[in-house]
Amino acid sequence: MCVDLRSMEYYEVEEVVLNLGEKKYRAKQIYNFLAKGVSSIDEMYTLSKDFREKLKERYYICKTDIYHKLESNLDGTRKYLIELGDGNLIETVLMIYKNGPSICLSTQVGCRMGCKFCASTVDGLVRNLTPGEIIGQMITVQKDLGERIANIVIMGSGEPFDNFDNLVKFLKLVHEDYGLQIGYRHITISTCGLVPKIREMEKLGIPINLAISLHQVEQNKREEIMPIAKVYDIEELIEAGKHYANVTKRRVTYEYALIEGVTDSLEEAHKLGSLLKGSLSLINLIPINPIKEKSFKKPNLKRVQAFQKVLLNYHIITTVRRELGSDINGACGQLRRDVINRDKR
Ligand code: SAH
Repeated sequence: MCVDLRSMEYYEVEEVVLNLGEKKYRAKQIYNFLAKGVSSIDEMYTLSKDFREKLKERYYICKTDIYHKLESNLDGTRKYLIELGDGNLIETVLMIYKNGPSICLSTQVGCRMGCKFCASTVDGLVRNLTPGEIIGQMITVQKDLGERIANIVIMGSGEPFDNFDNLVKFLKLVHEDYGLQIGYRHITISTCGLVPKIREMEKLGIPINLAISLHQVEQNKREEIMPIAKVYDIEELIEAGKHYANVTKRRVTYEYALIEGVTDSLEEAHKLGSLLKGSLSLINLIPINPIKEKSFKKPNLKRVQAFQKVLLNYHIITTVRRELGSDINGACGQLRRDVINRDKR
């Protein structure tokens, strides 16, 4: 069976090289080629033909090719549909901020968390992405952009903590000296609330930023829109978030989707404020992005501002997510669904 080189940590590539009777420094060359985005072993031209042939017998580079790309004329946001080796498609988004480009990566094809407002979960989970496929999105997009991407948010399709081992391996890959060299503090992982995995992440001591998709503070109402709430309740989720912040000394972000008549009452704002008051946290309000499959609506700007004002009065840093690429918009997972449906026809 062939093994994916992109899913390997540096020391593993070094072992491969040594086992094939080559000098250690060849590992560095291979790793550099991988980071630059070569799509085949044949493109690693500084390796001898003979060595390349030997490598090809047992190793390959997983496919993450651009299948479709949309670019915003307003702010340069790019949405990519990336094709994997088995033909599955995933979404990757590039956002241009003042402090440089930032990429939003997917961790699964589909998702099995079942959040009612999310397009990624409509058809359930297809499969987990491998560590190579997660980093491959970054490598492909960086090559297309022609510029270094230093910030990563894991907020694309999928629940990252539902693919925990591959996620952790990806974190190690992306941090490697001879690879992309991304500092852990430049990585944010967003979870819908898999409490034991939040604790596990904390114990691993990899200092990434944590974001928790809260979206509702009333337990029974949260259960209605986010089935995971039936497994881990709000109390234990917030407790885990606060613990993470205390141990890592890093501000935890709470994402709160504003859905008209579902999550946007001022009572809910007050409850959210009292829950997080005094903790090392930040609230990011996300006016919901309506998806075709469901009838959720975005509240108007006045409502959003009123909700934010309540939270600011609790002295909690509260931002409203800026809408990027509104001309190529569509909620998470919507582009993939649209293209799959179009190509089926
Ligand atoms: N599974 C992870 C990460 C992927 S979703 C998580 O739940 O955090 C990234 C963020 O987008 C989450 O906060 C998610 O709840 C939110 N989201 C999903 N669908 C959305 C929509 N239609 N409008 C606005 N935000 C949405």
